[in-house]
Amino acid sequence: MTEDFVPEYLLQLRAAERPADPLVSCIVPAFNEAENIAPLLHTLHQILLAQGLRHELIVIDDGSRDATVERVLRLKEQLPVTLVQLSRNFGKELALTAGIDLARGDVAVLIDGDFQHPPEMIPAFLDNWRKGYDMVYSVRASREGESFAKRWFTRVFYTLLNTGAQLKIPENTQDFRVLDRCILDALRQMPERNRFMKGLYNWVGFTRLGVETHTNDRRGGQSSFNLYRLLGLGLTGLTAFSNVPLRIWTLVGSIISLTSIAYALFVLLQTLLYGNDQHGWPTLIVAIMFLGGVQLLSIGVLGEYIGRIFTEVKLRPSYFVSRITHLTSSDEGRE
Ligand code: UDP
Ligand code: MG
Repeated sequence: MTEDFVPEYLLQLRAAERPADPLVSCIVPAFNEAENIAPLLHTLHQILLAQGLRHELIVIDDGSRDATVERVLRLKEQLPVTLVQLSRNFGKELALTAGIDLARGDVAVLIDGDFQHPPEMIPAFLDNWRKGYDMVYSVRASREGESFAKRWFTRVFYTLLNTGAQLKIPENTQDFRVLDRCILDALRQMPERNRFMKGLYNWVGFTRLGVETHTNDRRGGQSSFNLYRLLGLGLTGLTAFSNVPLRIWTLVGSIISLTSIAYALFVLLQTLLYGNDQHGWPTLIVAIMFLGGVQLLSIGVLGEYIGRIFTEVKLRPSYFVSRITHLTSSDEGRE
């Protein structure tokens, strides 16, 4: 168990404020999860029922192109499901955002729709919530089974992200977590369109606890996060939470300027002492190419930030909901 330090009295205060009969909202983002979604919803229902908890199961259909919606609709009158269909595929971060916006519960559980996050951990997470932690999040016990490229990419990403950052975003955390109403309300006040949820959960603060969890293999279907998509998410995370990529160029620029001043002095001295015999073309070409490269790269980094500013200033809604269906008239799931 990893723990962000929380003083005991604060936990007691928070624990005393927990409602006696809380409503739990389970938020499940689903993109092409036809094979998994119905069994997962049944499992979640069973687990929460066994705990005697009132609950709503919110499925965010993120523009699935398979039978996900149909499979969920088949559960009519069986499970307390609210099906939220987005108007197209907006990506997991926005599907989660839609779920957070629509959840009515005193506490929410975010869980993937593919059984990779073990649902049997939910009671333990909720126990910690009752003990006063406002957020209980899953920390990967190991990254076994992931490709070398993905592991390496994650490593580099977190190193870049956290270099010089005052608020470090913990590595190996997952979207599998329990969020108290206070965190849900805080997240709903964050209007940014470029959403990197792991950064946002971290940014809002409140009391939190990380719990080590093993990750299962995806039960059916395929992962939709290829390296390209991960790279996109990584850039969103970096540009939204770190200025280091911008600052690096100030540093690189200063080093290059200083070096060239030193070199200029050296050339001047050399010319004065020994005369100038017109050598140095290779040095010149290398210097020009190097500087050209550095400039293009730094303009690219600037462009990345400006692109994000552009999407923010347009002030478009982050997502559109095309339909909301309540599958049972008496939701809240406790007969
Ligand atoms: N997901 C989503 N929209 C997307 C891609 C994924 O809502 O555009 C959901 C997906 O249905 C699953 C979760 O996000 O519940 C994690 O996706 P996936 O399993 O593909 O990613 P991985 O576990 O490989 O990181
Ligand atoms: Mg998955």
